[in-house]
Amino acid sequence: MRIAFLGLGIMGKPMAQNLVKAGHELKVWNRSPGKVVEGAHSASTPKEAAKDAEIVWLCVSDTKAVEEVLLGSNGVIESLKPGTTVVDSSTILPDASLKFAEQVRAKGADFVDAPVTGSKVGAESGQLIFIVGAREETFEKLQPLFSVMGKSAVRVGANGKGLAAKLSMNLMIALTYEGFAEALVLAKKQGVDLKPLLSLINQSMVRSGVVDYKAPFVMARDFSANFPMRLMHKDIHLMLEAARQNGVKLPGLETVDKVYESSTREGNADLDYAATLMTLEKAAGVR
Ligand code: NAP
Repeated sequence: MRIAFLGLGIMGKPMAQNLVKAGHELKVWNRSPGKVVEGAHSASTPKEAAKDAEIVWLCVSDTKAVEEVLLGSNGVIESLKPGTTVVDSSTILPDASLKFAEQVRAKGADFVDAPVTGSKVGAESGQLIFIVGAREETFEKLQPLFSVMGKSAVRVGANGKGLAAKLSMNLMIALTYEGFAEALVLAKKQGVDLKPLLSLINQSMVRSGVVDYKAPFVMARDFSANFPMRLMHKDIHLMLEAARQNGVKLPGLETVDKVYESSTREGNADLDYAATLMTLEKAAGVR
């Protein structure tokens, strides 16, 4: 298929690369020059990339970025043709996504929110999970592309529902990792050796995918970004805003938000969100 892929960050670049490897014809675009995908044509604007594309796929940071890429000057909307499908894998507010969907549909194209889970490792290995809000027939049409970039795709409901589900799942990731990090700090401060503790965690009911993914990085003290703290903090703000809009109280998440604020003040925003551990260590006087 002819696919425009917009946003070649930690997630977007390997996703686009996997589409090229599967034989699709790609035009890619990234805001800052210099990011390219082997085997793909690089376009100079989103408008140019989207011209003649059957599918336009976005994976950029936040709501403002999606708005600029879609609706800004030289944006996708300027060359969008009826029959095209726009798929957005960025994590943004469901409300904002619904407004983008309306504007895309007004051009005779279709719109899908398809945020992902699986992080950098999942994107590189084609093992992402797509969490989808879409019309059923559009979801079915996209299956071959989901299966190139991911191990599964689940349609949660109509537009916006993929993002609503994604925010709820990321809430669990933020809280689970915080629980893991706090447990490590408390154990270490009490003089517990962390190797047997990790073995215990992995044998017991507190084992989790979050711990499986993060523990090797934490034990190696590798806090380079798989999922940058600035993006998880952005997601925490999206969750709190979605909670406010829907009359839900999230006291655990409000507390975790404060840890992220401290860690950001300490200069950790571009590190992985696992670096919140260093903020807890600092407060406890332990490493
Ligand atoms: P990233 O490495 O920071 O890349 C962000 C991308 O967005 C870059 O291509 C960046 O362009 C572009 N961008 C930012 N602001 C823009 C703007 N105003 N206009 C146009 N492009 C703009 O982020 P990522 O990790 O790939 O994440 C992308 C999305 O996936 C985010 O919504 C994130 O929350 C979500 N996500 C990430 C992970 C993960 O583990 N990393 C997992 C699941 C979901 P430049 O190169 O010019 O900065």
